[in-house]
Amino acid sequence: MKKMNLTTKILTGLCTGVAFGIALNLYSGGGREIVDAYVIDGFLRLTGGIFINAIKMLVVPLVFVSLVCGAADVGDVKKIGRMGGKTLGIYMVTTGMAVTLALILGKIFNPGVGLDLSKVVSMTPKVGESMGVVDIILNMVPRNPVAALAKGEMLPIIVFALFTGISIAATKGESDEVLKVAKGLNAIVMKMVSFVMCMAPIGVFSLISRTFATAGTEALLPLMKFVGVTVFALGMHVLITYMGMLKVFGRLSLKTFMKNYIPAINVAFSTSSSGGTLPVSLDSAKKCGVSESVASFTLPLGATVNMDGTAIMQGVAVIFIAQVYGIDLTFGQLVTVVFTAILASVGTAGVPGVGMITLSMVIQSVGLPMEGVALIMGVDRIIDMFRTVVNILGDGVCTLLVAKSEGELCQATYSQA
Ligand code: ASP
Repeated sequence: MKKMNLTTKILTGLCTGVAFGIALNLYSGGGREIVDAYVIDGFLRLTGGIFINAIKMLVVPLVFVSLVCGAADVGDVKKIGRMGGKTLGIYMVTTGMAVTLALILGKIFNPGVGLDLSKVVSMTPKVGESMGVVDIILNMVPRNPVAALAKGEMLPIIVFALFTGISIAATKGESDEVLKVAKGLNAIVMKMVSFVMCMAPIGVFSLISRTFATAGTEALLPLMKFVGVTVFALGMHVLITYMGMLKVFGRLSLKTFMKNYIPAINVAFSTSSSGGTLPVSLDSAKKCGVSESVASFTLPLGATVNMDGTAIMQGVAVIFIAQVYGIDLTFGQLVTVVFTAILASVGTAGVPGVGMITLSMVIQSVGLPMEGVALIMGVDRIIDMFRTVVNILGDGVCTLLVAKSEGELCQATYSQA
């Protein structure tokens, strides 16, 4: 009941935030400077910023301790290997399907054809340096785990956490006290997240108002087709890929799954952070009947490496940018996009806006102009909300399938939901 209340409050924050943001955007009367300085760049930036910082603050400890506990709980090294293989396999395959679907829909709907570039507010691209494939793999093994934790480098953190959990499991009897401490820490971090989530309604209100208050309609209108195709592709991925996988491989209904995931969907949509949604997703997976040891293994992994929604945005963005610049991509280049988007998804952390940075890696791989990224920056905040929902749903579907195949899904709980 308490959770439902929070969910309703977050949704209210979201809706009033949109209305308030649009009102601020349209308001051009006297005192506009005061509105800009005190409301948009003052109150909204402060409250939204505190909320996002607090989520980011918890992502590293959350992923680390829940993966340590997850791996230690699975216990048997062989089982961890088998489950890890299945989980990563499903994550990669679904991401590949996601980006392929995005490319196909992009080719059908042509979001970048006939776009009047002069209407798009030009922004200087602030694109981060992206890493090559070899470097990504090489850097997965941290030379200094403390430095990786301090810098928030998610892949090395995952490797170190799994290694720690496996070693705890392998030293049963000697390390029981350490596991107890890890479980205690896990409970503490989960509690911290629920405290931060109490701030979500106001945080979400501020974030969304500021987005709508600052994103001018001139910047948004020419990009509406891009936004529309991306959101459509996201919906199709849920309906075709997820429903198909749940039905064919698990004989499970998508409707029941979605019903259990409503709180997680709301939080993902309003925070745009898979990492921040993790505690709520864990709860939803448990409500679906997934055992704790599977959920706390697959979900933190998914919140960091599995980003189907992000891959879809990147697929549509590639087609959009190529069309805006009048570049025809060959079949070979499209295949390259599929593989780089899978890698980019692994390299995208579960916090807001990172998918936009890893997009540069995908764009670079087929030689499209980097300025293209700047074209869609204006609408990224909005797309981020939708794609994060698909990111966490993808983790949930994989979790259900892995749990079912391991005999760790309580079918009765699932059916009752
Ligand atoms: N916001 C996304 C997430 O947390 C990542 C991204 O695409 O920017 O899943």
